[in-house]
Amino acid sequence: MTYQIPRGTADLLPDDSPAWQALEQHLKDFCYLYDFREIRTPIFEHTNVFKRENDSSDMVNKEMYTFTLPGSKTSLTIRPEGTAGVVRSFVENKLYASPDLPAKLYYLGPMARHERPQKGRLRIFNQFGVESLGAKSPYADAEVMVLAYSILKSLGLSDIRILLNTLGDDESRSAYRQALKDYFAPYVQDLCGDCKRRYEQNPLRILDCKVDHDLDCMKHAPKMSDYLNEESRTYFRTVCEILDRLEIPYEVEEDLVRGLDYYTHTVFEIVSLNREMGAQSTVLAGGRYDNLIPYFGGPEGMSGIGWALGLERLLIALQAEGISLQEAAGVDCYVMVLDEQARLFAFEVLTALRAAGYQADMDFQGRGLKGQFKAADRAHAKHVLIIGTREFEQQAVTVKNVADQTQETVQAEALIEYLDGQEAAGEHGHHHEGHEEGCQCEACRGE
Ligand code: ATP
Ligand code: MG
Repeated sequence: MTYQIPRGTADLLPDDSPAWQALEQHLKDFCYLYDFREIRTPIFEHTNVFKRENDSSDMVNKEMYTFTLPGSKTSLTIRPEGTAGVVRSFVENKLYASPDLPAKLYYLGPMARHERPQKGRLRIFNQFGVESLGAKSPYADAEVMVLAYSILKSLGLSDIRILLNTLGDDESRSAYRQALKDYFAPYVQDLCGDCKRRYEQNPLRILDCKVDHDLDCMKHAPKMSDYLNEESRTYFRTVCEILDRLEIPYEVEEDLVRGLDYYTHTVFEIVSLNREMGAQSTVLAGGRYDNLIPYFGGPEGMSGIGWALGLERLLIALQAEGISLQEAAGVDCYVMVLDEQARLFAFEVLTALRAAGYQADMDFQGRGLKGQFKAADRAHAKHVLIIGTREFEQQAVTVKNVADQTQETVQAEALIEYLDGQEAAGEHGHHHEGHEEGCQCEACRGE
């Protein structure tokens, strides 16, 4: 019997987790700057949260992991995206009643879609996303886009481009929808099976088809911009003006309709131009939704905007540009035990080190001198703490500073003070419990 991970899923192994943690922390730090706060919603919801009336998207129609437990009538779906659950929660918890809107929220976690797995396309992948709910203002649109762009820029990505478009309000979109129906009527039989369905359900989505993309009839299809009413036009113009003023580069791409049905007005993507990204070049995508909050029972006319980025795709984009997030990992101290009788003493020393804020580890396998030195090396230890028979008898520790190869035997009770002194002398900051390197508190700055 063998056991294997399901197709299209991945384990995050400890060698890769520092990069993920650094990335997640970076994203959270940016949200803090912009005053977006975290929301966590369940990884499954009632199916109707995602599968809304008349939704024509592939995600909803073909990619959802939907299940009903034996003996139950309740259909549940593992979340394929974050927005629907966040909006459901925003309404259910009446966050819309706050005097301070928009509610600015972010989320982070796994999503599940039954797709054909390939590079940058998994069946369980991780998204980080933001939603700004309850204020319809071009400034709210600009805020989330500036946040998105700033995050990607700050990570060092340079081969990126913002693609921007508007789908207009309901009136504009239904005029456009009619125009597309009229236009595509003679071509329907040439379109793929999905597009035949889209033609009936939501002809806008035909423009997003990856199969029919190169057909001649696609090139001459009517443009959204010719069907925008005055209000939609003005809204979009203002969004563009704000981005211009802030010197955020973007390109208006009239074919951009996005993969989800709920979008209105502003839609955008950030793509990586790096060739290694292949077909999966979209790192981040989002847009405004005028109808989703009312759909879930929230106030009529209340609108939101958000985006999501795929962490796996972002990491591929970073790698393609040669950007590494992984800091050189290395423990502060590795404790070597050279006499079994000294093990309890050594364990006590190890625990004291950790209590003082030193990242520390020791041998648990009873290896010999050579084996333990190798282990300390693999752990990139800054200090190797040797405890042999002599040290045990004296209740002392021999501290070897790996960088300058000096060594000194110090009494166990004076060990922390000794290490603090070494740290202060060296370039590495300090260790106060609960304070991290670079901490700006008075005690830390005073060092
Ligand atoms: P695509 O056109 O690539 O299928 P989408 O329109 O389905 O994307 P969204 O639902 O807007 O994508 O999701 C936002 C982001 O989440 C994408 O830009 C991408 O970075 C990431 N993403 C979406 N689907 C997957 C997947 N199956 N595997 C990995 N990342 C994904
Ligand atoms: Mg998709």
